[in-house]
Amino acid sequence: MSQHAAKLIILDRDGVINVDRDDYVKSAQEWEPIPGSLEAIALLTQAGYRVAVATNQSGIGRGFYALQDLHAMHQKMADLLAPLGGRIDSIFFCPHVDADHCNCRKPLPGMYLEIAARYRPGASAPALADIPVVGDSLRDLLPASTLGAQLNLVLTGKGQMTLATGGLPANTAVYENLLAFTHQHLKV
Ligand SMILES: [Mg+2]
Ligand SMILES: [Zn+2]
Repeated sequence: MSQHAAKLIILDRDGVINVDRDDYVKSAQEWEPIPGSLEAIALLTQAGYRVAVATNQSGIGRGFYALQDLHAMHQKMADLLAPLGGRIDSIFFCPHVDADHCNCRKPLPGMYLEIAARYRPGASAPALADIPVVGDSLRDLLPASTLGAQLNLVLTGKGQMTLATGGLPANTAVYENLLAFTHQHLKV
């Protein structure tokens, strides 16, 4: 397999692609893109990246919305991306709450390991070596760090608070938003 075939990027969803809400994004109607984020994904798609999303969706486990609502949000995202030439290759989500003791709820690494198994089967450790991961929270970046990813914090969503709180891995790059990251990453 060529290096090109393995071109992968992993994005958090809430606060990175769409506007986060303190009361959870519960419907397609409440799912609103952050300005520039869809254009950024289109640029990544056109640059040959497969875009994978890894997102905690404990609102399902808490009963705030249903699986079909989550699917409707993701259909809206795909429908808004398509005319821009953007595409999300896969969405990994954790519907659980802490009490479920799952392996997938970030900061646990389960979703990242699933992504690595799908896109980099047989790759030598660490599982996400040099794969860019973009998040707005420490819980996105800490497990990515242990798997060797290239770490990127955006200041949308909870990003400002995350930066102020501190504790970021030392090699974390910081960007205003996903579009600024993408421009820098792709040199466009
Ligand atoms: Mg987030
Ligand atoms: Zn889970």
